[in-house]
Amino acid sequence: MLKRVQHDGRKRVLKSLLIANRGEIACRVIRTARRLGIRTVAVYSDADAKALHVRMADEAVHIGSSPARESYLRGDKIIEAAKAADAEAIHPGYGFLSENADFAQAVIDAGLIWVGPKPDSIRAMGLKDAAKKLMAEAGVPVTPGYLGEDQDPKRLKQEADAIGYPVLIKAVAGGGGKGMRRVDDVKGFDDALESAKREAASAFGVDRVLIEKYITAPRHIEVQVFGDSHGNVVHLFERDCSLQRRHQKVIEEAPAPGMDAETRHAVCGAAVRAAQAVNYEGAGTIEFIADASEGLRADRIWFMEMNTRLQVEHPVTEEITGQDLVEWQLRVASGEELPKKQAELSINGHAIEARLYAEDPARGFLPSVGKLDHFDLGDEGRIETGVEEGDAISPFYDPMIAKLIGTGNTRDDAIDELAAMLDGIEVWPVRTNAAFLFNAVVDPDFGDKRIDTGFIEKHLDELVPPSEPSDAIRRAAGTIAVLAAEQNTALPGLAGLRLNAQPRLAVTLNGSPDELAEEEIADVSGFADEARVVVFTEGQMYEFALATRGTGTSHGLHDGEIEAPMPGKVTAVEVKQGEKVAKGQRLLTLEAMKMEHALTAPFDGSVAELIATAGAQVTEGQLLVRVESEQPSS
Ligand code: ADP
Repeated sequence: MLKRVQHDGRKRVLKSLLIANRGEIACRVIRTARRLGIRTVAVYSDADAKALHVRMADEAVHIGSSPARESYLRGDKIIEAAKAADAEAIHPGYGFLSENADFAQAVIDAGLIWVGPKPDSIRAMGLKDAAKKLMAEAGVPVTPGYLGEDQDPKRLKQEADAIGYPVLIKAVAGGGGKGMRRVDDVKGFDDALESAKREAASAFGVDRVLIEKYITAPRHIEVQVFGDSHGNVVHLFERDCSLQRRHQKVIEEAPAPGMDAETRHAVCGAAVRAAQAVNYEGAGTIEFIADASEGLRADRIWFMEMNTRLQVEHPVTEEITGQDLVEWQLRVASGEELPKKQAELSINGHAIEARLYAEDPARGFLPSVGKLDHFDLGDEGRIETGVEEGDAISPFYDPMIAKLIGTGNTRDDAIDELAAMLDGIEVWPVRTNAAFLFNAVVDPDFGDKRIDTGFIEKHLDELVPPSEPSDAIRRAAGTIAVLAAEQNTALPGLAGLRLNAQPRLAVTLNGSPDELAEEEIADVSGFADEARVVVFTEGQMYEFALATRGTGTSHGLHDGEIEAPMPGKVTAVEVKQGEKVAKGQRLLTLEAMKMEHALTAPFDGSVAELIATAGAQVTEGQLLVRVESEQPSS
């Protein structure tokens, strides 16, 4: 597939390229640029000084401290870096400044080539409300809702009533599922509005919202489009991104299951019209929402928004079309025509992508930060990552650490490959969602194409792996410890060793013990060192301590001490000192890794100590609030 893309010996597209991004997408862009003979320039923040994208690029320029707003969001610094490194063009990746029209304009004004659509096209599609109005005028069907200027909460509530619950509040500047709240009845409206606006203001600097009819059990269908400066626009077929958690894509595939030729023709045609309406150049995605209660039907698919950049999930399109979309972007940016005409593009096979996040599904998907002491994603399938073993996941950026793409002639083949990839993932001590992804792709409903955007919520209990290992896994851990000890005679019983003296001993249990076979667990691997045994199976990681040295003073939930689970900013304190609280009640909101996290009361009681203040930056483990349990009343 992608490997078969041929370099046809045309003149070199560009001489040099600065990539204004980090992580896997920076690495991805560098790879294609290098293949095309283009000199690459990376930019980096303090936290990324030793990051993989910096190591991969021909040159790297430091642009500021770790928070994104002081580095990757500093357009001025990035343009300065491009000038200093004599880069000819800037590729923005996705996120950060990729859909910032002012930045695109500043790049052009500085005499550099902007790898992306014209600033006017970005602006036209930048706000969801304006984009929807424009598309309606161009004859593209749009989701019913309120798009007005009047943002008075009372007015918004009236509009929600008029649309009819459930409704969806969406930040007009939103992206990545942020600033979006589903509201099921009028009672929940005010809270949802306030929280959506707060998240939008902090993430995008604009808190205006629109209100849409919430379509129950919808599917997310999007179409990859491409335009050039010669007036050509083509589509590269559709993707289905219905597997989402909190409106964020988790698993994406191409083509969309159940899409017949006629519907595909209608939807992809509408997408091309949408791109033409804004004189689109470069890579873009038209997102639609489909009411798929009776299968995918052209008259039940509505425009949602356009993303004027390369998408995270572009690899699945590359895999089924055999095209390198980053190469397309670079050719278009340098003034060439699109590499292919519509009639030369076709779908070949099936591809599914899963997003591997540094987060712990068993603890409410809390992001997990730290060093990747053990990091092995295997060598099957296509892997896009921006980290290697020994690198660190920092709290400053999005917690996505890799994308895994399984392919095959059929959807079932692609599922098999992706499941095998996820099964083999070994990451420690950072937690990942690998087991959650594994459970999702092997779910019979997923296999039978019974998918919609509620899939994950509906199956959540089956998808979240148990935090406690089964007895079989415990016994496997014992076996691994014994085998590891046998492998190394200097590891007698794995006790009494000098710290750091031992390398880690990796063990794979082939022909798994009976109880594992009974539980249908195929593959178990793990490692042992002087302090622990770590077991990996089906994407899940279980750690067993070998020695208990000291008891430590861990403040658990039992004593009601609520600590910051990660570094972040307290965005709201919902309780007062002395206030009575009920189990599960929200005490405060912490914003970390670009997301809001609710910290709730572990039991009924009262607020004995309130240390946190709104707006405060807090470090991991910092005590924020202490809840005391209620005195027995008798
Ligand atoms: P973002 O730009 O933040 O990604 P989108 O407008 O693309 O926001 O919507 C993200 C997801 O939210 C969609 O893929 C879909 O699952 C869900 N969604 C959006 N609009 C609606 C709607 N009107 N009804 C139901 N779900 C919706």
